[in-house]
Amino acid sequence: MSDIIQLLPDHVANQIAAGEVVQRPASVVKELLENAIDAGATEIKLLIKDAGKTLVQVIDNGKGMSTTDARLSFERHATSKIRTAEDLFNLNTKGFRGEALASIAAIAHVEVKTKQVDQELGTHIKIEGSTIQNQDVIATPTGTSIAVKHLFFNIPARRNFLKSNSIELRHIKDEFYRVALTHPSIAFDFYSNDSEVLNLNSSNLRQRIVAVFGKKINEKLVPIQEHTDIITIEGFVSKPEFAKKKRGEQFFFVNNRFIKNGYLHHAVINAFDQLLPPGHHPSYFLYLSVPPNTIDINIHPTKTEIKFENEHALYAILRSTVKHSLGQYNVSPVLDFNRDATMDVPYSFKDKTSVSTPKITVNPSFNPFESESNSKSYDKPKTAQWESLYSGTETALDVQEIEVEADVVHKDLFNSSENEIKVKTLQVHKKYILSVIKSGVVYINQNLAHQRVLYEEFLTKMTIEDTSSQQLLFPLEIAFNKGDITLCKEIQPDLESVGFQFDKIDNDTITLDGIPVNVNQNNVQGLFEELFEDIKNEIPDSSFSQLDAIAKSLARSLAIKNGTKLNSKEQEELLQQLFSCKEPNQSPFGKKTFITLSSEEIQLKFDN
Ligand code: ADP
Ligand code: MG
Repeated sequence: MSDIIQLLPDHVANQIAAGEVVQRPASVVKELLENAIDAGATEIKLLIKDAGKTLVQVIDNGKGMSTTDARLSFERHATSKIRTAEDLFNLNTKGFRGEALASIAAIAHVEVKTKQVDQELGTHIKIEGSTIQNQDVIATPTGTSIAVKHLFFNIPARRNFLKSNSIELRHIKDEFYRVALTHPSIAFDFYSNDSEVLNLNSSNLRQRIVAVFGKKINEKLVPIQEHTDIITIEGFVSKPEFAKKKRGEQFFFVNNRFIKNGYLHHAVINAFDQLLPPGHHPSYFLYLSVPPNTIDINIHPTKTEIKFENEHALYAILRSTVKHSLGQYNVSPVLDFNRDATMDVPYSFKDKTSVSTPKITVNPSFNPFESESNSKSYDKPKTAQWESLYSGTETALDVQEIEVEADVVHKDLFNSSENEIKVKTLQVHKKYILSVIKSGVVYINQNLAHQRVLYEEFLTKMTIEDTSSQQLLFPLEIAFNKGDITLCKEIQPDLESVGFQFDKIDNDTITLDGIPVNVNQNNVQGLFEELFEDIKNEIPDSSFSQLDAIAKSLARSLAIKNGTKLNSKEQEELLQQLFSCKEPNQSPFGKKTFITLSSEEIQLKFDN
């Protein structure tokens, strides 16, 4: 019998290889972006038409290619990035297989324009289905532009296999985000069908995350940082209360490469141990650096899987780092993440058997100035430990019965586990709300407590919630001096986020046509005056502290004053709201919101 084995012609081999490398337009996007980054580009433009089915083009200002290299780059296993097998274990580049361009050229129409910095004129090459159609000299900027048209033109089955434009575009965006998040210092411009999707300036990591996912994510991020001999971890995780039902933004980057790793994912989830409501997922952006020779990224052609040498150690380090950062966040001031880490109170994990971050649940229509019939009740927060504060109390005051629930920070105060406990409140001297707890009594300062409640409510509104305003029948005009007007313009977006609606801001007048629901129209002027004064005194050094200053100032202006009589319903609501705050024990300005007097202390007074 005659021999039957034949070597496949190159273009067939390329088509087969292409099946591995190029599954969809998004794969082309990824390969081209990565080549641009490997070429040292600082600015990269991505152009897409019809979700990449008609065009994917990447233009970079990197080092470009010589004419010979430009031709060679389309040969299979043609790469400038590794020379020996050993190089594979010390990779500093994204590419290394030399397969991408050859594969793409096998299944599409490709047009390359490229020029190196010392060349006067560049190279222009057109390839269709692995065949060079045309090559000439061209005037083009330094760098490379590669346009990939008519993807899968010669493999109709693959082309038909593509999903709808919206799904393919989704995949493209995912690839783009991964690359953009890996390289915040590189500027990106992304166009789809001639309209700009994202324009990202060179920035730091936090700014890049915000630029990609929107301003609101900023407040949700808890920074992560750890350095050990075998791994450096940097990045951010989302605060537990912002966890989402859908598995949203979860990114691992290892040595500047987006990867998926179920084991490390588990380590992060595990660090959130009991902090998340069931079925909720945190976001994370974690950048791990490990010595290149301790990983093997070579196990999958699309290279998102990775093998670590010391997986178990990495798991433990990652888990405890994330856990520690979450813990610090839990007991430290809410807003200022750039503070000195040494000022943070360390967090004692061992005491936290059951951890559950209280949600800020605020009734937007709660107005303690209103009569009882007008104030509505709202869903009670679900945390379970404050109630033990009230366990074992017998009927002592026949004023009001409420259920009170707990914040984790106070765990040691309350260790009983009875379920529904009725407690009573009593307003004393129109200033304190007195309530009996298991170990004695608690005195709550109504003004300071309400400040805390409003402060957290404003912060929540500013950062996550949609705001509700009351529309004014007649626009409210308030005159201010020039300085205050300028200030007002500066903080206008923040004021809008809490419910102020500006009709216009002139040289000397502010016209409002909507105000927050819990603000009385007659108090607006005074409120603004105090606010401007507070902000001027605060000298905010960042947008966070500015937000914080606004929230504090509004909270102080709007809080129930001492001397105001509260009916039992209002007392109840205030108590509940206070203890569902993140930091119930302090007013926004750091004063105690309540004190407790233990039975022993009271007894001592009798004994002496
Ligand atoms: P790999 O990236 O694995 O080396 P590719 O097929 O993606 O393989 O690219 C082949 C070669 O073409 C690269 O090694 C590089 O030398 C060159 N190249 C590709 N894209 C660019 C670019 N945008 N700028 C400069 N050189 C490039
Ligand atoms: Mg490549």
